[in-house]
Parts: sequence; structure tokens; C-alpha cells
Amino acid sequence: QAKSSKSIPAKGRSTPPRMIGSTAQRAEKIEKRDSSENPLPTRLSVGDYVKIRRLDDATGLIEEILPRQSELSRQDAGSNARKVIKQTLLANLDQVVMVFATAQPDPHFGLLDRYLAICESAQLSTLICINKADLPHDERVEDEAAIYSNIGYRIIWTSTQLNQGIDELRESLKNHTTLFTGPSGVGKSSLVNAIEPGMAIQTGLVSDSTGKGRHTTRGSQLYPLSGGGWLADSAGIRALAAWDIAPEELAACFVEFRPHLGKCFYSDCAHLDEEGCAIIKAVDEQLIDPRRHRSYVRIYEGEER
Ligand code: GDP
Ligand code: ZN
Repeated sequence: QAKSSKSIPAKGRSTPPRMIGSTAQRAEKIEKRDSSENPLPTRLSVGDYVKIRRLDDATGLIEEILPRQSELSRQDAGSNARKVIKQTLLANLDQVVMVFATAQPDPHFGLLDRYLAICESAQLSTLICINKADLPHDERVEDEAAIYSNIGYRIIWTSTQLNQGIDELRESLKNHTTLFTGPSGVGKSSLVNAIEPGMAIQTGLVSDSTGKGRHTTRGSQLYPLSGGGWLADSAGIRALAAWDIAPEELAACFVEFRPHLGKCFYSDCAHLDEEGCAIIKAVDEQLIDPRRHRSYVRIYEGEER
């Protein structure tokens, strides 16, 4: 007998059984989407929102998996090499925080470009966090960062030493399912711990156990934040890093290229160094930063197997 029908998130194995205020709202928002554009998933994944029927004995029955807003998956060639199995590692991730440091280590903006493109392709919103704002650093860091705020990305400058920007960062995690990524040593674990003490260990974000090189087949897990929202673990980071962008889709993943697309002389222009390329023209006219275009070329050439 059905007692009530309510939406709760499917939990990772070790996620404490707990509900947060945002969950019902999020599920509602997702439910309202046109399911023809986003077919219902058939297999449950971590991060899924489901409809359950509460049973009398305090258990429940999953009746429906709600449409996913985003999906990080892994493609495995099964034992039959012709059959590729897609396994969703994490559903409904909606935000990626990309962490860099002002110094020690110096920021690697080429890596940022790659991750921004991945997030655009995966339809995840992004937040750039530049940590170690307390350290003396090259003034070019501010100039380079301005490139990103000019094209619409939000940047939060933080320091775990001075407790700077931490409240702002914590606030922006509220009611989102977020993944932290960035090079090692930039302060990801320190930031996550400043936001939620003890969380860095749970999510595998502590520097010496990011699992790099370790072969692991388990899916990602989500951990609840006390302010509402969830944090994805390092398995989610690996899934994101492995994201593939088709070469012909890459240009649209550079947000400031978009207004110029479709205007090149050749309709199949790859925007590398072609005659009559509208992207290269925009670079020449200083409408597009040349460093961003160089990142595009580098990623394109790497992606084109
Ligand atoms: P992760 O590898 O990205 O998780 O980085 P960690 O959180 O382990 O931090 C790497 C080092 O940077 C540690 O020695 C931290 O104490 C230090 N660190 C973290 N945040 C800051 C900060 O805001 N300012 C300074 N000066 N050092 C920091
Ligand atoms: Zn072009």
C-alpha cells in the first residue's frame, strides 16, 4: 500500500541516510523537463533522483528514475568487442569548481581551458576558484584571470590562510551537486575542509589519496553538505577528465567563439589557420584572446585521433 510518494535522491553506498531541503525542489525542477528530449534512464546511478513509494515497514520501492540533467559516463568495450557498454558513473552533477593557486604552483590556464571546454560540452556550470590569494604572486595572474571574467565565467579569489572568499564559495555550493577539480597542491582539500570539516578525506580529495594511477572500477559517490547540496568524490574527477569532445563540437565549447561560428569561408572550417576563418579574424580584431585560441588549437589537435 502506498503511503506517500516523494522524491529522494538515490544515494551512494556510504552516503549517510539523510535528506536535505533542496532535494524535493530539485527533483521537481528536473521532473518538469520535457522527457522526450531527455529519455528516462533505465539503470539507476549515483546522483539519480527517483520516485519511491513508501511502504508500511519503513522501506520503499523505487517506481521511477527521473530524467537526468547531466550524466558522466564511462564506455567499456564488453567481452564482445563490438558491443560498447555505457555505464553512468554520476548523474545530475551540475557544477564544477576549478581550483588554481595564484602561486605555488603557478596557475596553468591551458588546463583551465581544457576543463572549461569539457564542462561546456557536458553542460555543467563552472566556477573558477583562485586560491592562495595571500601569497605574493605575478601580477599577470590577475590579467589572465580577467580573460575569463570577461567572457562570463565567475571567479572567486580565496585564501584558506586568511579565510578569504570561503563564505562566498560555501554559499555557491548550496543546493548544487558540485565537483572540485584542479592540479594537485592548489589547495582543494584545504578549501573543502574549510567549507566542511572532515569532508576532504571522505571525498578522497586529500592529496596523497586521490587515487591517481590506481585502477578502480567503482562509480562515484556523493556526500551531503551541511548547508544543503552534495559534493562528488575523486571518482567523479576521473570521469570528468576522461570526457571526450568531438572535434567538430569543440569550437562551440569556447563560449566567446560562439557569436563568430557559421561565418567562416569554408563551412567545414576547423578554425586552425584556414583562409577566411571568422574565429581567426576575431582573434586579429582582439575580440577573442589569442591564448584561448591557442588552447583551442592544442586541444583540437590532441582530440583529433
Ligand atoms: P590539494 O592537493 O589541491 O588538495 O592541495 P592541499 O589542500 O593539500 O594544499 C596544498 C598545500 O597548500 C598545503 O601545504 C596547504 O597548507 C597549502 N594551502 C592551501 N590553501 C592555501 C592558501 O590559501 N594559502 C597558502 N599560502 N597555502 C595554502
Ligand atoms: Zn573558422
